[in-house]
Amino acid sequence: MKGQRLRLVYNPYAGRRKLTAQLDTVIRIFQESGNEVCIHRASSTQDMEQIASQSRDVDRFVIAGGDGSIHQAVNGLLKIPEDQRPALGILPVGTANDLAYALGLPKSIPEACKVIAKEHVFRMDTGQINDRYFVNVASAGLLTDVSQKVDTRVKNTLGQLAYILKGIETLPSFRPFRIEFEKDGQRFMEEVVLLLAVNGHSVGGLRQLVPMASLTDGKLEVIIVPAAGWPETIRLLLNALRGEKVVGTRKIKEFQTTELTIHTDRPVKSDLDGEYGPESSWHIKIGPKISVLC
Ligand SMILES: [Mg+2]
Repeated sequence: MKGQRLRLVYNPYAGRRKLTAQLDTVIRIFQESGNEVCIHRASSTQDMEQIASQSRDVDRFVIAGGDGSIHQAVNGLLKIPEDQRPALGILPVGTANDLAYALGLPKSIPEACKVIAKEHVFRMDTGQINDRYFVNVASAGLLTDVSQKVDTRVKNTLGQLAYILKGIETLPSFRPFRIEFEKDGQRFMEEVVLLLAVNGHSVGGLRQLVPMASLTDGKLEVIIVPAAGWPETIRLLLNALRGEKVVGTRKIKEFQTTELTIHTDRPVKSDLDGEYGPESSWHIKIGPKISVLC
């Protein structure tokens, strides 16, 4: 198709500056496929959300970054009415790239550009927690704020190892919290260490953490890991790190839902796609569908 406008937004520091070295190739592929390309170099994640929210002037909005950048872009795009909203393209240059993996996008930047140029639109679910949207996972509890705390330079140098080291560092100061929620007319109270509402099946770089999660079924997978004493908790986490199914382990609650309200006994921070999310209480639900080029 000729005469389409495409906006490319990139985080210059994501993924060892992987994109900047290939910027000319990226522009060439998009131009040769008939796109008029405009470029925005993002100075912050807030900047990404803002530019996305002002992008009804383009047909395609391509974000080069990791899950956090995609998260900001989608929160911006969802401020545009659906009939004027550009389709989202993704160039995965982050550390974990969970959503890109769940979508089956190629790791190579030129290959990912070619996928976007094909103009095939995939309609995927989003999740919503209070007034924010998430694309891959909403979480709270143990290890969930690790991504926010790891410095970008350390992430670029150590990759996945940076998360594990930071995760270990946060363990001694962690306190379980009590949650209360209602499901199918029943009230549950639970002391928990970890809470996940999952859209895609890869979480925190663990490619098959929630293998049954679907981006199109209109449902979120909820996983609740109860406080069980440190040896048991560590065993569960190690299983998860090895990519073993945590689902099916007796003590973990796992169910599908379209909507869930969770109250906590104290304010607890949430993490959405590796970015700061709202503090509890949380109203979690399936969000609107978005168009992704893949
Ligand atoms: Mg789903």
